[in-house]
Amino acid sequence: SDQNEDLRALIRTIPDFPKPGIMFRDVTSLLADAAGLRATVARMAAPWEDKGIDKVIGLEARGFILGGAVAYHLGAGFVPVRKAGKLPGKVVTQDYALEYGSATFELHEDSIAPGETVLIVDDLLATGGTAEAGITLLERLGACIAGCSFVVDLPDLGGAARLRALGMDVHTLVA
Ligand code: IMP
Repeated sequence: SDQNEDLRALIRTIPDFPKPGIMFRDVTSLLADAAGLRATVARMAAPWEDKGIDKVIGLEARGFILGGAVAYHLGAGFVPVRKAGKLPGKVVTQDYALEYGSATFELHEDSIAPGETVLIVDDLLATGGTAEAGITLLERLGACIAGCSFVVDLPDLGGAARLRALGMDVHTLVA
């Protein structure tokens, strides 16, 4: 939206990454800007300040950076959802589809107590498949998912509609 034009201006678009024809939205340029990072974290967190968030869930890997900062801002804990094989404890596991191929997410099974309220954070929402895998893992642990917060939405790829169809409250800053 227009009110986040300052943030949009700090996000680079790099053509033909990771493969020809893809226009990659690169948030590292936003994260590197002191005022941009601070405003991004504050605006991502704002809708959830009074929602009783116990834990923020960051999706590997850029969701760790933003999720950790949003958790600090909200006074919540932070829990990572990681690619397979990275978490040392007992995990729940979920496969998900990528544009080409698939990947596997894991979540420590003792990281969320049943009924705890959580917020999912990542940098960018495209098809929603990545976030849906996180939702599936959290629901398996009995989490109460308050919603999902992203910096960038690519609305043509339908992710926001997909997550809202699952009953999620979806918040994004820049389209
Ligand atoms: P989805 O599963 O199709 O919604 O894709 C979202 C995931 O892929 C997120 O974890 C993003 O970090 C990553 N991703 C997809 N496209 C881009 C992009 O253009 N820039 C940065 N990350 C992207």
